[in-house]
Amino acid sequence: MLADKPEKYDKLFKAIQKKATPQVWSNGVSLARDKRLVKESEDADSVSFVVLAGGRGKSLEVQLFSEELEWQCDCPSPADVCEHVAAAIITLHAADKSGEEVPTHRAEIARLAYRFYDEDGVLAFERVRTQEGAREVPHMSLLRERASFGAPTIMEATGDLDVDLAMGTWRRGKVPRTEMAKLLAALVKCGGDRISYERQPVQVSLRAVMPQLLVEDAGRGFFARLVGDPDVERMFKNGAALAKGQIRPVDADAGIQQNERNMLERGRGFDGGDAQDLQHLIHRLESKITVRSTTTRLAQGEVEPPRLVLENTNDDERLSVLATLVYGDPAVARVDRGALTMLDAKSPVPFRDEREENRLATRLFGDWGSRSGDVRSSRGRTRSASRRSSTRSSAGRTRTSCASPARHGRTSPCRAGRWSDACRSMQVVR
Ligand SMILES: [Zn+2]
Repeated sequence: MLADKPEKYDKLFKAIQKKATPQVWSNGVSLARDKRLVKESEDADSVSFVVLAGGRGKSLEVQLFSEELEWQCDCPSPADVCEHVAAAIITLHAADKSGEEVPTHRAEIARLAYRFYDEDGVLAFERVRTQEGAREVPHMSLLRERASFGAPTIMEATGDLDVDLAMGTWRRGKVPRTEMAKLLAALVKCGGDRISYERQPVQVSLRAVMPQLLVEDAGRGFFARLVGDPDVERMFKNGAALAKGQIRPVDADAGIQQNERNMLERGRGFDGGDAQDLQHLIHRLESKITVRSTTTRLAQGEVEPPRLVLENTNDDERLSVLATLVYGDPAVARVDRGALTMLDAKSPVPFRDEREENRLATRLFGDWGSRSGDVRSSRGRTRSASRRSSTRSSAGRTRTSCASPARHGRTSPCRAGRWSDACRSMQVVR
């Protein structure tokens, strides 16, 4: 039975030996003799070794595949077989022949881990060496520095070197605010469970924590203010936050101008009639921050086009057509003197499309306004709609008038081609 095992690696031994140059093979023999290899793991058809770097910062990993007769090593050697692979198969072959186990001196190998903690409300950081069966110790030196005598070999993993570079000149303690982004960007590359905050495992995410805009009902109007992200459990003074088990950078500005930010931090009220301003604000900030709205009275989603409602009334011998700009079908809001009047207090406030409003007004004036004679004023919307009709079919003189006499006076015309800010509705009189 013992005879089977050497045979298992015999083929691989011969394959590697055949491809190795005499110099490489002889170096491999020395490495194996110095017991510089430690078995890292073994399964049915592959064995991994760590080649201890002998006081150098970085060790190498060698893998041998006995079934496929393949091998690989971390080192930059371009040769088919490097001295580490040679040393690995020599060690394995010798151990199998003698029936001994390949040593797994894990105590000689350390890994790096990263510890966050809270220091007076500031996020602090420390890099440590972890070893099986040993206490963690801070690892202060540079990763590529020659390790002190007797220090364990560091098994460098993905991201370790990035963290080393990101740490720059500070070694531990409170993370300088200016270095936070760089440090987190490096740590995000470190996989596994090597990062903790106050001894609890955490992940690092680069998704910035930002303020959010909260929009609420306030009487007949609304109130908007900047609030913190509700996911945040702990906000640190140096530009980072703990949110749902993640350490994330903080972007307090969120690309919002300072005066607007100051105003929104205090909060701003909007009358029902100012809903349009609020919607513009939401529209503008949505691309930067999360907007949370608890009101159901603000229209969400797409812009709903306005429409002209023509109401015609027969008054004595004259045909009067009253035009109003409304949103919704049936109408939920009307444009009055440039502002929106809600006709249905419970329905969402529509998002205005002023370009379309002006286009409709221009068309109205184009159809009738150019042929208008004198301009007559009257109170708008005094009669309910009977039926919709076009005045184009009616013969005779057409007059266009603004239905907002209070602002315009009896004879002043509306600005041609525009639904004037002062207009409530238009009256076309034949
Ligand atoms: Zn190698």
